[in-house]
Amino acid sequence: MKSIESLNKKIVTCKKCPRLSAYIRDVAKNKVRRFKDEKYFGKPLSGFGDVNSRLLIVGLAPAAHGGNRTGRMFTGDSSGDWLAKVMYKHGFASIPTSQKKDDGLVLKNAYITAAVRCAPPQNKPTREEIENCFVFLEKEKEILKNVTTVLCLGKIAYDAACKLFRVKPEKFGHNKLFKYDSIQILTSYHPSKQNTQTGRLTWNQWSAVFAKAKRLSQ
Ligand code: SF4
Repeated sequence: MKSIESLNKKIVTCKKCPRLSAYIRDVAKNKVRRFKDEKYFGKPLSGFGDVNSRLLIVGLAPAAHGGNRTGRMFTGDSSGDWLAKVMYKHGFASIPTSQKKDDGLVLKNAYITAAVRCAPPQNKPTREEIENCFVFLEKEKEILKNVTTVLCLGKIAYDAACKLFRVKPEKFGHNKLFKYDSIQILTSYHPSKQNTQTGRLTWNQWSAVFAKAKRLSQ
């Protein structure tokens, strides 16, 4: 795979997981009331950001009414709000919000991707679906040659990163750093509403991870 553009074209047309392909089409067709007038993207999502970056951020999967609607990961939902705000604060993003694909958001020294590219029901991909999608992470790794630090948002992202860099997973937790010869892996709880609204992930804990990511990826 020579370029990110050709990889992204492959991702967006992928139909390897029948359950997820059907689900994202169905969500796009049977919209929730608050987005009833919007045209949903309803396809697998590629990653986005700076292909020369040293920081790679790995999420779980697009959200059904977030990325699956807007056509860009972490865009148009509360997880995207948290991510854009903290990335802006630490100099990784040009604007502090992520609402629409054409909002002008430019990432600096960071690339955002996910373990799974199609929104899964209840945000729970199966093991087989995670395995199916792993090839796209591998291709991204080949293209993003400058990555020194991976920030994993949640355990599924962490497991995928360990597999990607062929290291043994340790016990997952928030703001843990694992250093290897080939890579530095930093972990965070996912900024899902379930975590941010319950206080499992506070703003200060979230910001501290990005402060560390900034130091590690300079
Ligand atoms: S989850 Fe990944 S492998 Fe499965 S259909 Fe979507 S893009 Fe393809």
